[in-house]
Amino acid sequence: MALNRARQRFLDDHRDLPASQVIPLIGSHRRVTWPALCPACGAPAATHINVAKTFGRRGRHSGPYRYIVRMRIPFCESCADRHRALVKPVPSLIGSFFRTPALLSFIGAIAVAAILWTIFIQGGEGISAGARLYALFGIVSLVGLGVALTASDARFLRVPPLTEITRACDFSDNVGFPFGRRRFYAVRNPAFAQAFATANQHRLWTDAIRQRDDWISGIAFVLLIVAAVIGYLARK
Ligand SMILES: [Zn+2]
Repeated sequence: MALNRARQRFLDDHRDLPASQVIPLIGSHRRVTWPALCPACGAPAATHINVAKTFGRRGRHSGPYRYIVRMRIPFCESCADRHRALVKPVPSLIGSFFRTPALLSFIGAIAVAAILWTIFIQGGEGISAGARLYALFGIVSLVGLGVALTASDARFLRVPPLTEITRACDFSDNVGFPFGRRRFYAVRNPAFAQAFATANQHRLWTDAIRQRDDWISGIAFVLLIVAAVIGYLARK
């Protein structure tokens, strides 16, 4: 349900584009074929921009979480220059580490590690070499975990919002769950959009695939109901 909302929001965001410039593809975005054109102005592409977008998702068991999708998209030199002038600066790797609220988990891990260090490593004579080794292992794991948790949250601070240039080739989150990967690409330049659709013809999310998805979800729904009824009857 949440994914349908994400899909609707993306389509609403790009309602100003003709339908032929909002291209639905199946499969991984890593295997998309990019035409050698600029999606913002249609000029021949001369460089690439690494575009990243953060998507909010909701796992059935994990609750809400965030996810970054990155794509290396061709652009012409002058649009890439304009993008570099417009893009909001993001903190460095180290800078983002100290700016995320997740830093608290790092501080907590360091505090516990320091206590373990004081007791077991600097502590008195009565502590065996084995216990010290275990404590050292615990300290290293704690610090490692603190760094990993903080870093995995800090990377979201290094995803700048799209500029008017990178928005010329916007992409949606995966809206295909549970059938596999389906993603929309909204392209501002008509020539790029056409070349993109042609180059990825074999992976277009066609009406036939959509109908098959609907059939499968219909059958899956019926099976779930049947399973629930059988489960209910079997309990009696
Ligand atoms: Zn351009």
